[in-house]
Amino acid sequence: MKEQIYTIPVNEAYDTDCECPLCELQKKLELETLDYTLGAAMMEPDFRENSNKTGFCRHHFSMLFDMPNKLPLALVLDTHLEEIRAQLNILKKGASKLSNEKSGLFKKSSTSDFSASLSKNLSETDKGCIICDKINHTMERYADVLLYMWNKDDNFRTKFDNSKGVCLNHMLLLTNMAEKSLSKSQAAEFLLSLYNKQLNELERIQNDIHKFTLKFDYRNKDMDWGTAQDAPIRTIEKISGFIKNNAE
Ligand SMILES: [Zn+2]
Ligand SMILES: [Zn+2]
Repeated sequence: MKEQIYTIPVNEAYDTDCECPLCELQKKLELETLDYTLGAAMMEPDFRENSNKTGFCRHHFSMLFDMPNKLPLALVLDTHLEEIRAQLNILKKGASKLSNEKSGLFKKSSTSDFSASLSKNLSETDKGCIICDKINHTMERYADVLLYMWNKDDNFRTKFDNSKGVCLNHMLLLTNMAEKSLSKSQAAEFLLSLYNKQLNELERIQNDIHKFTLKFDYRNKDMDWGTAQDAPIRTIEKISGFIKNNAE
């Protein structure tokens, strides 16, 4: 039996009427992870060491900045910036060679060496996010549990079949997890069902977004909106996952 801390939320997410139950789970998880980052994690040396090194993506920086308490954020930023500066300091030796280059003393280009190291250094700083890492790790657990329940629990399979599918991000996650979590034949059955379901759901969304565009033609001004009224946000969320975290 899979741990209930995962099965219950996955089941509950599939009780919500939404474009992607996994996005619903991720919204809650994101808020919990942000709270943890500026709360309990402040006292955890391992997490602090990791966040100093890895840092945060722009999206999560923005969410951290919107949180009310600025002191823990400032403490995290203080030590993270210290680490960024320490990493840049490593390149001092290479930088000092640039002045020789200027006077044309060396044939071999220390400029391209330095520029390559600096570029690598800056992309490393830019690329990581400890909040994304933590969320991705737990989302894999949720996906594993979802696949387990799809395989073992008929009630859940019915919920899955009656759902509106998932966003393309989480379709990718389920696709990548299927063979890890299921036997070969089960994975084949799941992937076929996911693929067919998604094609139907994307066609439904396409009909809505197309209807939305038609509504702007004055000849259609009396046309019934049907389910098309909020089509732009649902189309975006179907393609890229949620863009606004409105979880409570
Ligand atoms: Zn999603
Ligand atoms: Zn992030």
